[in-house]
Amino acid sequence: MVNRRKFIRTASLGSLAGLLAKDVLAAEASVSNGPVVISTWDAGLAANRGAWEVLGNGGTALDAVEKGVMVTESSINCCVGLGGNPDRDGFVTLDACIMDHQFNCGSVAFLERIKHPVSVARRVMEKTPHVMLVGSGAQQFAVAEGFPLESGALSPDAQKAYTEWLKKAEYKPVINVENKAHGPFAPAIMPTGEFNHDTIGMVALDAKGNLSGSCTTSGMGFKMRGRLGDSPIIGAGLYVDNEVGACTATGQGEDVIRVAGSSAVVEMMRQGLTPEQACKKIIERIVRIKKEKVKDIQVAFIALDKKGRAGSYAIHPGFSYAIRTTKGERLINAPSHFKKTS
Ligand code: ASP
Repeated sequence: MVNRRKFIRTASLGSLAGLLAKDVLAAEASVSNGPVVISTWDAGLAANRGAWEVLGNGGTALDAVEKGVMVTESSINCCVGLGGNPDRDGFVTLDACIMDHQFNCGSVAFLERIKHPVSVARRVMEKTPHVMLVGSGAQQFAVAEGFPLESGALSPDAQKAYTEWLKKAEYKPVINVENKAHGPFAPAIMPTGEFNHDTIGMVALDAKGNLSGSCTTSGMGFKMRGRLGDSPIIGAGLYVDNEVGACTATGQGEDVIRVAGSSAVVEMMRQGLTPEQACKKIIERIVRIKKEKVKDIQVAFIALDKKGRAGSYAIHPGFSYAIRTTKGERLINAPSHFKKTS
């Protein structure tokens, strides 16, 4: 148990600790009739490569979005998979979901000691009458399905970050720390205590024109025990409507949940907005709701429509997403509500 517990609060941020120089291309919507895959943050490049092994060989978007994010779940990563930062009591708890082109969906949350929560989410979708399993029930289901129960030990980086965090025991997310942690110019060892926030969200369109999506995270670092963000919640962290498009989110989950973020973006695309316009509309809604507190939070959406057009929008600059089509791969800097970081 943690002695120095303080109630988690979202404290005001200082200035952004410097955007990294990145080899990103200017933001622009991409048009492709598929296959195409997009995913959040710089880590999305590697995840997209995993997805492309499926998509590039004529596989389904569903298989691609599972395989793709498994790459990130397996990597040494502050904020996705078992190497992620723990909650404030020192335990890594994972959230993930997956959704296909026929409104089938599955989700796990507060899952401990299982390496690939996205695959457990897929089993929930395919093998149970339910959409969501949480906590010990989700773990029990995973083990019954043959997923190994891994050690609960923290990764060396997470242990270091947690030990550092315990000195102050306060919750201070650093905007865009994701790219600091994983970007092409990321330092090998991050300053401790900064791994607070991250998610890999992926949406794909396959050669048959079907959409699917996935989302997986260890959530906010040092969160209250039992806290869930948007990532395992269908409609918030991820939504797919095969007639319209698909969207996934990253950032402060509480503020994605309160606007049913990914579902709202898809509804905007249904009204005729492009993916970028749709993402922007819901980001602006969050900005209005949060008022001055919006300075302290990052939220970003990425979306793909039925035509294979991709787009994104963030609250703050510094968010990038990865895209892969038959023409190649690249990172794109997302446009944002604030043009400069304060
Ligand atoms: N959305 C995730 C959560 O709130 C974290 C993140 O993407 O930064 O758990």
